Amino acid sequence: MVITNVRTWQPVDANSPPDWRTSLGQIAVAVETAEGVVGYGVGGGGAAGMHVIDAVLGPMLIGRDAEPLESMWEEMYGATLPFGRKGIAVMALSGVDLALWDLRAKRANQSVAELLGGGTGRTLPTYTTLWNVVDAETLTGGQAVKLHVRLEDRSQPVDQVVTRVAAAREALGPDRELMIDAWMEWDVDTTLEIARQIEGLRIGWIEEPISADDLEGYRRLRDECPIPIAGGEHEFTAIGFAPLIEERLHQVLQPDVCWCGGLTELVKIYQMAAEAGLRVVPHRGSEVWGLHAIAALDSRPLAESGRPWMSWVRGQPAIREGLIEVPEELGFGVTLAGDE
Ligand SMILES: [Mg+2]
Repeated sequence: MVITNVRTWQPVDANSPPDWRTSLGQIAVAVETAEGVVGYGVGGGGAAGMHVIDAVLGPMLIGRDAEPLESMWEEMYGATLPFGRKGIAVMALSGVDLALWDLRAKRANQSVAELLGGGTGRTLPTYTTLWNVVDAETLTGGQAVKLHVRLEDRSQPVDQVVTRVAAAREALGPDRELMIDAWMEWDVDTTLEIARQIEGLRIGWIEEPISADDLEGYRRLRDECPIPIAGGEHEFTAIGFAPLIEERLHQVLQPDVCWCGGLTELVKIYQMAAEAGLRVVPHRGSEVWGLHAIAALDSRPLAESGRPWMSWVRGQPAIREGLIEVPEELGFGVTLAGDE
């Protein structure tokens, strides 16, 4: 399949949060071929990410066959090295990589899950990500829950977090799985104090308690925290995940396939984690871009609920009663609105 065009656009959704995601958030990528088959992917970086693709990555691909995509990934990564390695350039590369995987699966007449060896027709368990409190709809389900605790007063995080988590555990009862997410807002001592106070509440993991750059802090948490540590949604490429895995700094790894370098990197991260005996629970895993990999590669699948501002991904399966079906259509099984 000869690539004839690489197009990018930033879909608008009324539910997009009024923060960096409005301007630097998800971007749509379409890779067109002479055969008329189109590969779709989602990356990040907003207008800046689109510029990386339009100015650097796209022109590298036009006129070439869409395979082998792994060596094309290396070329694209190499071309962005002076300004890339992590962040927006890799978020942009992720969208192109996913579009090339969509083409690879369509060329093979398979879904991406099938292409990765996972068969078709699987239904996977999900967990629901919530902010501060457990809503009535989630209370009636049976799925696992992850609570983001937003700090109202950053000078006194411990009591706020412990109160919120205790209320969630009380509402959910003793048997539902419950995890918590700090979104990098605590420090090591705060995390250890919170962990000691909620240790008896059966918390599955504490996610991103400190900055993704604070590896020394994560070494202390690995050694001292009684609750497993999760993280990785703000890390990039298999190179970036290597120290997290080798030093076992996270017990649960959470790459975001639309940011971390695409499926090419997610496959490597799954392999590295499996060899180390660590769990992978991809960020936003119920969105199709990660869902196929979970279906095919994960021995203990758990797909995080998707984000409500991704409504422009047409064909994205809905979560019903805590479960999600992996699409059986070719490729990722979706198209992207705005591509008319
Ligand atoms: Mg998170």
